[in-house]
Amino acid sequence: MENERFDAAVIGGGIAGYTAALALKNFKKNFLWVGTEPFGEKLLKAERVKNFPSFMGSGEELAALLEKQRAAEEIPFTKAKIDGVYAEKGGFLLTSGKTVFSARSVILATGVETETVKGASDFLGRGVSYCAVCDGSLYKNRTIVCELSSENYEDEAEYLAGIAKKVYVLCKYRGARFRAENIEASEDAVAQIAGEGRVSGVLTKGGKRLEADGVFFLKNSAPPSVLVGGLLTEDGHVKVARDMSTNLAGLFAAGDVTGRPYQYVKAAGEGLVAAYSVHDYLHRST
Ligand SMILES: Cc1cc2nc3c(=O)[nH]c(=O)nc-3n(C[C@H](O)[C@H](O)[C@H](O)COP(=O)(O)OP(=O)(O)OC[C@H]3O[C@@H](n4cnc5c(N)ncnc54)[C@H](O)[C@@H]3O)c2cc1C
Repeated sequence: MENERFDAAVIGGGIAGYTAALALKNFKKNFLWVGTEPFGEKLLKAERVKNFPSFMGSGEELAALLEKQRAAEEIPFTKAKIDGVYAEKGGFLLTSGKTVFSARSVILATGVETETVKGASDFLGRGVSYCAVCDGSLYKNRTIVCELSSENYEDEAEYLAGIAKKVYVLCKYRGARFRAENIEASEDAVAQIAGEGRVSGVLTKGGKRLEADGVFFLKNSAPPSVLVGGLLTEDGHVKVARDMSTNLAGLFAAGDVTGRPYQYVKAAGEGLVAAYSVHDYLHRST
């Protein structure tokens, strides 16, 4: 799969990404649908969905129906977190650790991060990172803080411990276990980033002050402008035209990532429009 060049890559396993993938399947495109989880964590959290036409039930029930349809339509899902999207001649390269995917067009459907840390965007590229493999080597023999959203990122913290002198791991979940001796782990989270010009440390929600040269937020999603260099955003959302195109030719966006209202029907509708626009774009650029 890695050497294959897809017509389109859809990033994000939520309802926007799924609807785009469903439409691309109907267009008979050769596409990659990639995300951390099919149907996203947010769908499973909704206690009661009251605004989805013809559906009455919980988010979990809606996810089960979507999964039934996905299986019947034979839409493949690739489980991976994409850590970078790079424009190349006639398309894009997507990286996930050491794995590289290639596609002629991209639909970004990565949702929104509702919880953000004060100061994080000011220190991007100056000590704040969202990707251990991309930026880890910058912290050889230095001290870093890693905030982990789930146990899925423990391997990345261990990887960083192999490079850095000391790693403070702040876990937003219970029961974390690490092998590396230079990891000091606690159940805590970053409250604020400190520093002038560059990161010098963090204040934690638990009230600790940790001196560090860098902070890694290891979680499912990163801000869209971090994921895709040169992507135009406004108030943290990807700036799109009515056809879901962005300022980068061949790159479209759909769902919560483009702005409010944050709702399933809006996300699904935009996923559909983005797939139509990809279809047109591929036709025009052949
Ligand atoms: C508790 C709760 C209840 C809600 N109830 C309702 C409701 O009743 N009705 C309603 O209309 N809306 C509701 N919403 C809002 C709804 O969940 C969102 O509008 C919808 O999920 C947006 O879909 P999306 O596909 O744009 O993004 P998401 O569902 O957020 O999906 C994006 C996916 O992309 C993944 N991702 C992000 N970055 C990457 C990356 N770099 N690589 C790979 N994958 C990545 C994320 O992990 C996620 O799985 C609710 C939200 C919450 C939190």
